[in-house]
Amino acid sequence: MFESIIGHEDAKKELTNHIDKKELSHAYIFYGNEGIGKFSLAKEFSKSLLCDELDEYCGNCQSCHLFDGKTHPDFRIIDSEKSIKVQDILEMIDFIIKKPIVSKKKVVIINDSEKLTNEAQNKLLKTFEEPPSYGVIILIVNNPNKIIDTIKSRGYEIEFSVLGDNEVIEFLKHYSEDKELNYSQIAKFSQGSITKAISTLESDRFSQLIDLPNEIFNSIIKNDEYRLLKIVSQVSEIQEILEFMLTWIRDISILKKSRNHENIFNANYFNELQRQSNYFDIEILLRFSDIIENTKKVIGNHVNPVVSLNYCLLKIQEEYYEYSNRRQI
Ligand SMILES: [Zn+2]
Repeated sequence: MFESIIGHEDAKKELTNHIDKKELSHAYIFYGNEGIGKFSLAKEFSKSLLCDELDEYCGNCQSCHLFDGKTHPDFRIIDSEKSIKVQDILEMIDFIIKKPIVSKKKVVIINDSEKLTNEAQNKLLKTFEEPPSYGVIILIVNNPNKIIDTIKSRGYEIEFSVLGDNEVIEFLKHYSEDKELNYSQIAKFSQGSITKAISTLESDRFSQLIDLPNEIFNSIIKNDEYRLLKIVSQVSEIQEILEFMLTWIRDISILKKSRNHENIFNANYFNELQRQSNYFDIEILLRFSDIIENTKKVIGNHVNPVVSLNYCLLKIQEEYYEYSNRRQI
């Protein structure tokens, strides 16, 4: 069930169980990082709940047709650019207290529930306390701490974890037929977010960023500090750059061990990688990786990312400078 959604096997299993055993909760809270498939799964789940066939949606009944046509009278999505206010919740309550017309259930998805104002959450709580027997409300939220405890305690929480690179690659292969694309690089860049993977595919930012490790390591080899700092000033995607640098270092290490380039990530940069591999030995490459891993950790502890990347590159530069001096002696 829910095969069209990539990953999230635990969440899918749990929801399938609820449907199979007819043990549905009146309220669900789907939480986890942005862009990983919470909303997509919530929609599939809603479609199943509304379909005439109880175990899975059939795609052929009146309910499924209405759902696909976005005109199902027993289904509603609440979404807002800014905040979700009391008035929105009052309209939702007005909708859900009326018996379903087509299906046996009525389903509401509240997307980006962190946008609910406190007053709106308190209003919503009333429905959570006395839900109509046929009603199901699904809250979607990135950070569950934005939802008041009294609502959380009445909802069934389902956690969505970040997707692995392989899951994102699998998605991308379905999404785009373009064989020229480097799926693994885009997956690395997307950090487990499908939304980010799609926007990456559709932007030209990716091709600019993928170029950076080459520039960074060239500047390091040339001992060009000015250029290094200029690069930092141009990027806001600090974590992605760190990941790209790690794949770059990994590629050079592979090339140093063998000339087999089947496993390298940055396959389009084969010549540059090979050229740079003459400047580094395995030991200094490991040292670079340590510095980058350490920077990732520091950023994870909320140290300013730009400052951290600056420090990281200067540290690598310094290590390389000493190393190249030692080599010349
Ligand atoms: Zn159906």
